[in-house]
Amino acid sequence: MGIERIEVYSVSLQYYEPFTIALGTSTTSNNVVVKVVTDFKIVGWGEASPSFRITNETQETVLAAFEKICPKLIGTCPFCVEQTIELMDKLVDGNTSAKAAIDTALHDIIGKKCKKPLYMLMGGYRTEVLTDITIGIKPPKEMAKAALKAVKKGFKALKLKVGVNPKEDVQRIKSVREAVGAEVKIRIDANQGWKPKEAIEVINKIEGLDIEFVEQPVKADDIKGLAYVKKESPIPIMADESVHSPADAIKIIQAEAADLINVKLMKSGGISKAKKIVAIAEAAKIPCMVGCMGESRLGISAATHLAAALKNIEYADLDSDLMLRTKLVKRGGVGLKNSKRMIPEKIGLGISTFRQEVLGSPIRIYK
Ligand SMILES: [Mg+2]
Repeated sequence: MGIERIEVYSVSLQYYEPFTIALGTSTTSNNVVVKVVTDFKIVGWGEASPSFRITNETQETVLAAFEKICPKLIGTCPFCVEQTIELMDKLVDGNTSAKAAIDTALHDIIGKKCKKPLYMLMGGYRTEVLTDITIGIKPPKEMAKAALKAVKKGFKALKLKVGVNPKEDVQRIKSVREAVGAEVKIRIDANQGWKPKEAIEVINKIEGLDIEFVEQPVKADDIKGLAYVKKESPIPIMADESVHSPADAIKIIQAEAADLINVKLMKSGGISKAKKIVAIAEAAKIPCMVGCMGESRLGISAATHLAAALKNIEYADLDSDLMLRTKLVKRGGVGLKNSKRMIPEKIGLGISTFRQEVLGSPIRIYK
């Protein structure tokens, strides 16, 4: 039983409105979808959502990585995921979102062949996952308005993007808390935007606002700075951009630089390595969140299966598909109810059909 053909699709997904974080503004998510076809009539789907600012990848680099990877996967066993990862790592360094797409497609195939929803094969800890919805950086009043709108839609947790100007950032967080009241969970993400001392200044000013955690306050490679903020902060600190790989997780733990870790398939290179990060963190008593880049419901379904499977994943930020106007998935995949991502009792990732007008025709076929 082997991989017979790999089809590659490039998709361009538009956001409802320009989405601003401390690292820049996005209007479109340019992703790459893979369809892995086996010789036993099962196909698996995976998605790469490259981020140049975070994983140094673009749609073009993903396609270039596939040029090297995909021909070598023809004829290989789709169940031997560890072998495939070893092979991909030998063929190209980095390129984690490209590798995540392949890894996801193999997991989809395994779930379908076993006739089980993927999360059941990976630990089956829960069937629904509370997600936040992200509010991009805007003037404080506008952020409060957007937050209130999200709460009225049923979201019970908000992730506020900050990290451009410490004084205004405090205002943003205060305005949102005032607007939404005490019941809604609020977490904030500075996306590396502050210097360590600035981070502590902001955190001291928002201490009384019941903030769950502060994500990536300082530069990704400033592990000392992150450790300083964690030590001084009364609010838990989550590492995001500082942790891509299992080795990064060990580095952060040894430096005592975070209370929490945000795991993303696009940073880790897929589900297999994400599971390793979560296991390392669990051994160090560090709970994880599963987050996302700009995935459609295809990639978000994979991330939700992971979040549902493992006990040590206590938080989820699985909302990018909800922020995209262009819908790739027509039927199937994870749903949304009362701020929770719901996993359908369908095999594999549970994706049924795609919108053909968004998916288009394959731009590359390897066989
Ligand atoms: Mg983040």
